[in-house]
Amino acid sequence: MKADCDVAVIGAGVAGSAMADAMARRGWETALIDKEVFPRHKACGEFLSPESAGILRRLDQLGTVEALNPPAITSVRLHSERGVSLEIPLPGTAWGISRHALDAKLQQSARMRGVRLLTGWTAAAVEKNGCGDYSIDLRGRDSGNLRLTARSVIAAWGRRPPNGFLTPVHRRGRSYVGLKSHFTGFDSSPAVDLYFFRGGYFGVSPVEGERLNAAALLDRAGLNRRETGGALREIWGSAAERIPALRERFDKAEAVPGTQAATYPVRIPTEPSPWNGLPCIGDAAAVIPPFCGDGMAMALRSVELCVPLADAYLRGTCSLEEWRSAYTRHYHRHFAGPLRWGGWMNRLLAYPTAAAWLLRIGSVAPETARRLVRATRLGD
Ligand SMILES: Cc1cc2nc3c(=O)[nH]c(=O)nc-3n(C[C@H](O)[C@H](O)[C@H](O)COP(=O)(O)OP(=O)(O)OC[C@H]3O[C@@H](n4cnc5c(N)ncnc54)[C@H](O)[C@@H]3O)c2cc1C
Repeated sequence: MKADCDVAVIGAGVAGSAMADAMARRGWETALIDKEVFPRHKACGEFLSPESAGILRRLDQLGTVEALNPPAITSVRLHSERGVSLEIPLPGTAWGISRHALDAKLQQSARMRGVRLLTGWTAAAVEKNGCGDYSIDLRGRDSGNLRLTARSVIAAWGRRPPNGFLTPVHRRGRSYVGLKSHFTGFDSSPAVDLYFFRGGYFGVSPVEGERLNAAALLDRAGLNRRETGGALREIWGSAAERIPALRERFDKAEAVPGTQAATYPVRIPTEPSPWNGLPCIGDAAAVIPPFCGDGMAMALRSVELCVPLADAYLRGTCSLEEWRSAYTRHYHRHFAGPLRWGGWMNRLLAYPTAAAWLLRIGSVAPETARRLVRATRLGD
């Protein structure tokens, strides 16, 4: 019996939407599934790194993003709670762009290519059926269940796989809470600011619509110690008390109602898992330490690696095993370095003294600072 589609992509974030779009462009019948209904706000720093532009161009998505008029960002400013700051020019122009706008725009582009978009549907189980195709059980947010069959399935479900795909890697490591809100009334400059303090950091980045996005990543233990109840404003206030540079900016800020989002747990496994019974792209394959601001670029790069192999598999010119082996090899070659350095910096910057020293070293040896930042990134 013919499958309902050639490719089913589970997860319609940055990775899944770009993947679905690319497969539909190659002529494959594609379904894109997400449990959420879009547009929606998402806990994210919303900083689209300079590395993204080249990847978006190759995926033919540069125009999609530029159409949203995102503000340009040309430098990163790092601040420690010991009052040390360091500004590093970015290796190219980055953008600030809300996930509210970006994810919906990428989905719209995919839909225009003929992708069948199924939002409000949770993929509860995926299994191989007797014909070698996959059956996906979907649970509707508002209405019953649905079973979809596909010749191939791509996992783009982000950091948290459905239960059947949870491995020990997903349970390991420190757990963080991610939060975000948009603000108005801030001073705005073409820079992303990262404020590091014990147990977390705040990232502040301009986004479209003359707003600033403030995102925080806080270690769960630190959050409990502060007994804040988790409200972003309280957490922000408590961080601002200790970081002078943040306090000055916070004075004039007004939170935009309806733009708050939170996520828990954020775990940063040290080992990537690009194949978990299924090909995984984006955060499903590896969680990039958020302060690197490169998670979306890496998600898009994984799409670039996966598309030609998925295409070859569907054409019958490569087996599933060849796809697995080539994708896993390419993935490790591209991502091992940035993941190792990013994980190491993430741990170091959680300690105020280490963070202050790192920033001091960066101010007297800017080339060393630039190299360190480059080591956490993909390049384009
Ligand atoms: C606090 C924080 C700040 C960050 N800041 C930045 C930043 O400034 N810049 C940057 O580049 N990156 C940043 N990141 C990382 C970035 O958010 C991720 O790398 C990026 O979202 C990965 O995209 P993705 O498409 O793989 O996953 P996601 O965007 O998470 O998309 C996964 C989608 O899958 C859906 N889904 C999950 N399970 C199912 C299921 N069972 N059935 C159906 N749908 C499902 C979800 O609803 C979701 O829409 C940050 C992350 C955090 C936590």
